[in-house]
Amino acid sequence: MKCPSCQQGELKYSQLEEFLPCQTCNHCGGNWLLLIDYLSWQSVTKFAATTDETHTNTTIEADESSHALICPVTGTLMTKYRISSKSTHKIDLSTAANAIWLDKGEWVLLKQQGLSHKLNSIFTEPYQKHIREELASKTFEELYQHQFGKEAYQQLKTFRTWLDKQDKRAAMLAYLIAEDPYSAIR
Ligand SMILES: [Zn+2]
Repeated sequence: MKCPSCQQGELKYSQLEEFLPCQTCNHCGGNWLLLIDYLSWQSVTKFAATTDETHTNTTIEADESSHALICPVTGTLMTKYRISSKSTHKIDLSTAANAIWLDKGEWVLLKQQGLSHKLNSIFTEPYQKHIREELASKTFEELYQHQFGKEAYQQLKTFRTWLDKQDKRAAMLAYLIAEDPYSAIR
């Protein structure tokens, strides 16, 4: 079978882990993984799920195919799923063939992020929605930091947290935004 990513190599039988068979491209090193094989590996190893190396300070070199992939089995377009808000990596799913494409190094990356036993949840809408929300919140964070300056923004954040806990929050806020809170003239 021809590689869906580099389209130069051939997929050869190999394994990602013990009990986890896959097909690996002999050119780009990407992996074609059947969901059924993944799920049976997941059920065999679920009790060892904590063995994922979740130390995030080591940088894992992983390839990333940004172009759309065509499923090598069915010829249909595969869908990309972002793995987390901290990583730009996306894994490709063929819903027609029930198979996953992982670029070279992405399996190690998934293990490092503690996601190797959670691949099926990555493909769900709530998980993807959560990532989008985290990304949006990160964008706002950057925007405010840029707008106010780092130090002022930190002060504002601390103050906001404090203000949110006050019973008289609304009155305090009115006091703050009033042009002159000591004048009766509006
Ligand atoms: Zn390839």
